[in-house]
Amino acid sequence: MAARSLLLIRGGRVVNDDSSQEADVLVEDGVVRAVGRHLLPPGDAPAGLRVLDAAGKLVLPGGIDTHTHMQFPFMGSRSVDDFHLGTKAALAGGTTMIIDFAIPHKGHSLIEAFDTWRSWADPKVCCDYSLHVAVTWWSDQVKEEMKILTQDKGVNSFKMFMAYKDMYMVRDVELYEAFSRCKEIGAIAQVHAENGDLIAEGAKKMLALGITGPEGHELCRPEAVEAEATLRAITIASAVNCPLYIVHVMSKSAAKVVADARRDGKVVYGEPIAAGLGTDGTHHWDREWLHAAHHVMGPPLRPDPSTPDFLMNLLANDDLTTTGSDNCTFNSCQKALGKDDFTKIPNGVNGVEDRMSIIWEKGVHSGKMDENRFVAVTSTNAAKIFNLYPRKGRIAVGSDADIVIWDPKATRTISAKTHHQAVNFNIFEGMVCHGVPLVTISRGKVVYEAGVFSVSAGDGKFIPRKPFAEYIYKRIKQRDQTCTPTPVKREPYKGEVVTLTSRGTKEDSTHGTRKQAQP
Ligand SMILES: [Zn+2]
Repeated sequence: MAARSLLLIRGGRVVNDDSSQEADVLVEDGVVRAVGRHLLPPGDAPAGLRVLDAAGKLVLPGGIDTHTHMQFPFMGSRSVDDFHLGTKAALAGGTTMIIDFAIPHKGHSLIEAFDTWRSWADPKVCCDYSLHVAVTWWSDQVKEEMKILTQDKGVNSFKMFMAYKDMYMVRDVELYEAFSRCKEIGAIAQVHAENGDLIAEGAKKMLALGITGPEGHELCRPEAVEAEATLRAITIASAVNCPLYIVHVMSKSAAKVVADARRDGKVVYGEPIAAGLGTDGTHHWDREWLHAAHHVMGPPLRPDPSTPDFLMNLLANDDLTTTGSDNCTFNSCQKALGKDDFTKIPNGVNGVEDRMSIIWEKGVHSGKMDENRFVAVTSTNAAKIFNLYPRKGRIAVGSDADIVIWDPKATRTISAKTHHQAVNFNIFEGMVCHGVPLVTISRGKVVYEAGVFSVSAGDGKFIPRKPFAEYIYKRIKQRDQTCTPTPVKREPYKGEVVTLTSRGTKEDSTHGTRKQAQP
């Protein structure tokens, strides 16, 4: 029998989304066993106990990155952060779980895509992970597979693309079908909200004008293209009373659409990402082509420099709910595939390692949000929406010991020279961030400490998720019971009906006047 693994995090300030307390945390065999003062008196330590001193530090639930694309085959390339290096980098940044996307090509099986992604991830992941699955086309087979994925494979979220025309994009009627199915099986619908037709036409126009550089990427998909699709998705989801999750909210106008819909009572959640909160789209106009190209992602970073602050304010005030990174990294030589045509620049930026620090710096250090809201937007809300709570996203008895010891006063400077990601560029280069993860613990094991990893490929686990997450479905179910309109009981019309002919009304009716009903 394996020896008990015991870990005591002593003297820190334990922060959850709803409260903070000075407390020790005792971890046994990967799970939190106790949270309280003076859990073990000095000198009384059982054999095998490891003690971590957290005095003056914060003890936070490990981050959940809701949106990554590790080793993603995309736009003629494959993202360079694979499930091994990508999840290692996540741990270095205080993130202990990622949710990636299995994305089938049109006409291909969703279950095969899911199995393929599992076969890539399982032997490589260093932290726990889960998978969203994309619906890129519609058929009875897709409908059936969504059910199987939900019932047997641990998937409770499906993403639909309103952009990437001819590759992943689905039409409104397919969105309607997919949203309806999500609701039947208790999943949450996710959308990449951009108008794919307008982008395709805009791109043609830019190229015809001779605009081939990275700035063309933003110019052909202005904010309205994102805001329109966001509102359309919310309208369609609302029509079928399906909960909706907007991935990567990148613009002020799209964020406003989400905020307005929430105030209008819609069950919708918006996910800004580290890139959109930490930097902006002015970089697309940088004189150096590569610098500009490294910032290309979809939807684009917005050139309006007030965007990151605006998104952070909405995130702080619960208009936006979770944070991901959309980590999908391509090296310079891969970005150069689009050197003569911006539509061929592989879309994607980094963020999995730096997300927590960016949000601490721009959100907490700036005074926009407190430490509890930080925990809510970096882990707890995601755990609730994707039905991982309270196993993940909370430090409490019985929860997985995914924990970060966080120094809120220390600073670090972000740089591609020192980051742990595979990509050779960092969109946050030179940014000084308060908030440094000192120790990262994944299911009870210290996996990162003082810059040193103690983790192997495959140490992470796939975490299955059950359907009908209470956090989102309680309201949906109640609305179905109480808000379904009932037909009005009224006396049927008993009078004559005028039959229209090709020349107008039938001979027996009077021109221009309606015949009175017979008593
Ligand atoms: Zn994405």
